[in-house]
Amino acid sequence: LSRASAEVTELIADRADGWDRTGLLPVDLLRTLGAAGRLCPQVPPAHGGWGLSSRSCGEFTAHVGSLCGSVRSVMTSQSIAAGTVERFGTPAQQAAFLPRLTGGELAAAGFSEPAAGSDLSAITTRIRRDGDTVVLDGHKIWVTAAHYADLLILFGRYEDGAAAVVVPASAPGVRIERVGDPLGCRAAGHADITLDAVRVPAGNLLGGHSLPLPFLVTTALAHGRMSVAWGCVGILRGCLKAAGQHAARRSQFGVPLGGHQLVARHLAELLVAKETATRACEHASRCWDEGSPDQVMATVLAKYLSAREAARGAATAVQVLASAGARDGHVVARAHRDAKLMEIIEGSSEMCQLLLARYAPGGAA
Ligand code: FAD
Repeated sequence: LSRASAEVTELIADRADGWDRTGLLPVDLLRTLGAAGRLCPQVPPAHGGWGLSSRSCGEFTAHVGSLCGSVRSVMTSQSIAAGTVERFGTPAQQAAFLPRLTGGELAAAGFSEPAAGSDLSAITTRIRRDGDTVVLDGHKIWVTAAHYADLLILFGRYEDGAAAVVVPASAPGVRIERVGDPLGCRAAGHADITLDAVRVPAGNLLGGHSLPLPFLVTTALAHGRMSVAWGCVGILRGCLKAAGQHAARRSQFGVPLGGHQLVARHLAELLVAKETATRACEHASRCWDEGSPDQVMATVLAKYLSAREAARGAATAVQVLASAGARDGHVVARAHRDAKLMEIIEGSSEMCQLLLARYAPGGAA
């Protein structure tokens, strides 16, 4: 893990700011990471993966997240794609698709539609069987990494339930258009996808049969929630480091900024945010690694808390740096924009709160 972390540090180095400004990641770098199994580190070695536990996977995700929110976002998409194939694919489908996801091909996962954001029960993308093929019609929006993807995992209505289908991005009838000027994670390749009578082999329909929609999307999203939660720990690490260094180096009123009690309090709050988010993520990963029944709640809690703390913490870091951090491209400015988006995706903070309320005494059923 430490060697892989050092490798990724070297690959990303100080390039994240430039990628954020141009809105593009180098595809060869993504393929290099992908071919080493680094973009979906949980996939077992039998399928060419790295086979990390949830805890180690989280540590690696946090490290990447501390360096570049866009690369971490691409990892999150690849992890959802791989997790969906692992969970819902037949052994033959796993053998067919997982080695591609650990071999350098890039993937994205499409749930959201124009009228189906928080409410995924409103999705209208249709999947229908036609002989030995399936045909997809619909429209997906804001799909992270779709601009770079070779394979799309697309969720839609199938028979009396729902299904996920592996669709090559190059299939006839697929149109991918980038989302312009996203607030944050600007190089993550967000794109809208139009599906016009897209025909793929029936063997690409994961599991081969329909499933209840809530079960399918909730299970698939759980991988994204863990990845985002750990990514937010990375954002907090980057912010604490930048704010701490600045507070030590810059003096005002004859003392280092950190010597002013109100600034010291900012640093203390950032430390508390980083540590609290880390503990919540560690607990959730332990639940995954032990197969604990608390896994669902722990995952939602970790995602909610880490995203909230990252958004607050990044704003605090900008406050400590003030004008020094108030430039596009600065690590804390990037963190501020990236972290805000983490409160929106993979279940917004409000949707997470509603889910968590179910576990509170007297909470909504
Ligand atoms: P809405 O659902 O319209 O919600 C608007 C606001 O109302 C939010 O604050 C929400 O929390 C609140 N709200 C809605 N319903 C309720 C309720 N019942 N109670 C309380 N509050 C409520 N989608 C994909 O499929 N794949 C991706 O890879 C992907 N990546 C994304 C990356 C980014 C950077 C962004 C911004 C979006 C991405 N999305 C992706 C879409 C994302 O999943 C949705 O934006 C998210 O689910 C919220 O949906 P919405 O934007 O339509 O907001």
